[in-house]
Amino acid sequence: MKKHNFNPGPAVLPLPVLQEASQAILDYNRTGLSILEISHRGSDFVAIIDEAISLTRELLGLSDDYHVLFTTGGASTQFFMLAQNLLNEGDSAAYADTGTWANKAIKEAKAYGSIKVMNSSKDKNYSFIPKDFSGIPAEAKFLHVTSNNTIYGTQIHQWPEVNIPIVCDMSSDIFSRPIPVEKFGLIYAGAQKNLGPAGVTMVLLRKDMVRTDLTHHMPPMLDYKTYIAENSLYNTPPVFPIYVCMLTLRWLKQLGGLKAMEVINQAKGKLLYDEIDANPFFKGTVAVEDRSLMNVCFVCDNETLENEFAIDAKNAGCINLKGHRSVGGFRASIYNALPIESVQVLVDTMKEFARKKG
Ligand code: PMP
Repeated sequence: MKKHNFNPGPAVLPLPVLQEASQAILDYNRTGLSILEISHRGSDFVAIIDEAISLTRELLGLSDDYHVLFTTGGASTQFFMLAQNLLNEGDSAAYADTGTWANKAIKEAKAYGSIKVMNSSKDKNYSFIPKDFSGIPAEAKFLHVTSNNTIYGTQIHQWPEVNIPIVCDMSSDIFSRPIPVEKFGLIYAGAQKNLGPAGVTMVLLRKDMVRTDLTHHMPPMLDYKTYIAENSLYNTPPVFPIYVCMLTLRWLKQLGGLKAMEVINQAKGKLLYDEIDANPFFKGTVAVEDRSLMNVCFVCDNETLENEFAIDAKNAGCINLKGHRSVGGFRASIYNALPIESVQVLVDTMKEFARKKG
């Protein structure tokens, strides 16, 4: 039976990307070598990473003011790496507290500077995104936000109007819609939701954010300047994940770019949220205006109904729908590569559940 994979990450990848990547594992570009065996310093891989960078620039509209870097260690490494690179001892930054991942970023940043935690929705189980940023301290070097809160299913739909650079964890919605690039001093994202396989992290860094006056020790692998100087090839990079990211970016471009992707994502989101709102057996868990188009969280009135629906969904081929333990219920992750047909199967299963129970 066809599987509809609603996993929050690693997530579904476009089928043509998987097909091309499988072929490249056997024989990359008729070189007689697997993509897994080529040198990261050879011309084949340099062409791959350069294409990934130029597609990133083209799709996001990034000017030469930004570096495109590939790092390892996931977004979790960026939590401390960005603070280590952007803050000197005594510096301060503002962090919005919109969920578990934001909290992890805050915890790490506290080791490097004075961190003002603001706009917390913790007392409402992170079910909405506070929008008033007037409390940012004048001396803050940047404002850190999480554009999409993967666990709670909230997403920023109105970017903060602030006069300091925004640093953004875009792990779970990068490349899902156009963004006003100029607002951002740094964007980072683990690849494994919208971009490629786990193992590589994308960092977009505005040139004026790079500091040459840091007083603490910077190991080369944790220093953005190393990645800038070596085109992300200081050590052996994750060759295969970067290759698959490049293929996904090609797929996105062919689809029509981020505007076209956004239209598709809006249609998928509407299909599912409309059903949640119309179906008496389900309800959404977050403020309507902050609903995520990537991770759709919903619950039933009681656990018995949830267990029953989980069985129906599984029987229909809809898998990995279990909500995070801090929210419960269901979470349908409907990232870029999940076809609308899969969302339709889920919606049909919800309709059938209501018919059966009603
Ligand atoms: N930030 C967000 C918004 C996430 O969704 C995740 C992973 N689910 C992370 C950070 C952590 O990413 P990684 O596993 O790549 O360290």
